[in-house]
Amino acid sequence: MKYGEMEQKLRREARALLKEGRVDIIIGFENGSLKFTTTPLITSDEADIDRLVINPFINNNLSVFLTETKGRVGIVVKGCDSRSLVSLLQDNKVTRDDVVILGIPCPGIIDLDKVEQLAGKERDEIIDISWAEASVVVAVEGERKEFPIQEVLYDNCLGCELPTPKEYDILLGEPASSIGVDNQADSLTKIKQLKDKPPEQRWSYWRNEFNRCLRCYACRNICPACFCKRCFVEESEPQWLLPVPKWQDNLIFQVTRNIHVVGRCTDCGECERACPVNIPLRSLSREMYQIADELFHYKAGMDKDIPPLMATYEITDSEDLVK
Ligand code: SF4
Ligand code: SF4
Ligand code: SF4
Repeated sequence: MKYGEMEQKLRREARALLKEGRVDIIIGFENGSLKFTTTPLITSDEADIDRLVINPFINNNLSVFLTETKGRVGIVVKGCDSRSLVSLLQDNKVTRDDVVILGIPCPGIIDLDKVEQLAGKERDEIIDISWAEASVVVAVEGERKEFPIQEVLYDNCLGCELPTPKEYDILLGEPASSIGVDNQADSLTKIKQLKDKPPEQRWSYWRNEFNRCLRCYACRNICPACFCKRCFVEESEPQWLLPVPKWQDNLIFQVTRNIHVVGRCTDCGECERACPVNIPLRSLSREMYQIADELFHYKAGMDKDIPPLMATYEITDSEDLVK
């Protein structure tokens, strides 16, 4: 994967978009303050453009910012992010003419936790992580270790269904081949292990997990599909939840959130990555994604010209109440 070439093309295109007044702001990635991290860069200043980066650590789904920004926006998206953007177009939360989409053909994002485990080293002990065709090379003091990419990508990337955005204005590289074709089962291993447990064990598992939830709302705030101006958790009349993070209310928050984003969730994995206490939230969101597909043959953000799942029905839908 030629990150350097894509990065140079991105900087050229982004600079031209600002200079020619075709956009008011650019939303992309810059290097984070910690090694092997990136952070969103939102700027209208041409002088910032050389800070834009593309590398295997650009995990944020930047489309979350589109409902908060005003004016015309040039936005950098990977395949899954582009699906979130399309979903926002379907919901009329974003106007197509107001965005210039800079698409990244995405080979997958590296999960640093997996690299640390495989290499037996912590972030600060790792000197370099580089992509080499079908493997990732990790340089540590005095040696280089090589791991197949399937072992170091995020679980959701292993099931990726759209690495190259379908909806874009400028594509920054050659279309990427989909790692998800061969690795769907690996993508779902942790979820399957949980589903295979008897119901009582699953109940006790989730009870323990939601006992740890801090109700920080990072999972909600980072999610492009969670765009309500006023979330039900903040309602006071009626008050659906107590503000104190008790496990029962935490569970209701997460179950309701997942119902609200069904048909909009693109399995981008951001909610799980954002959780400061590592609650395996993808086990819930990916399950809802699967249910939407099985019941309604609907995958979020694949086609901007069809109505959103939850704003339409067909006479063949399985639920009698909508007929
Ligand atoms: S899910 Fe696909 S498009 Fe999204 S980061 Fe992973 S590989 Fe890239
Ligand atoms: S990010 Fe984690 S801790 Fe915070 S509200 Fe969501 S589930 Fe709870
Ligand atoms: S629920 Fe999680 S995986 Fe789904 S779109 Fe929101 S942040 Fe992404």
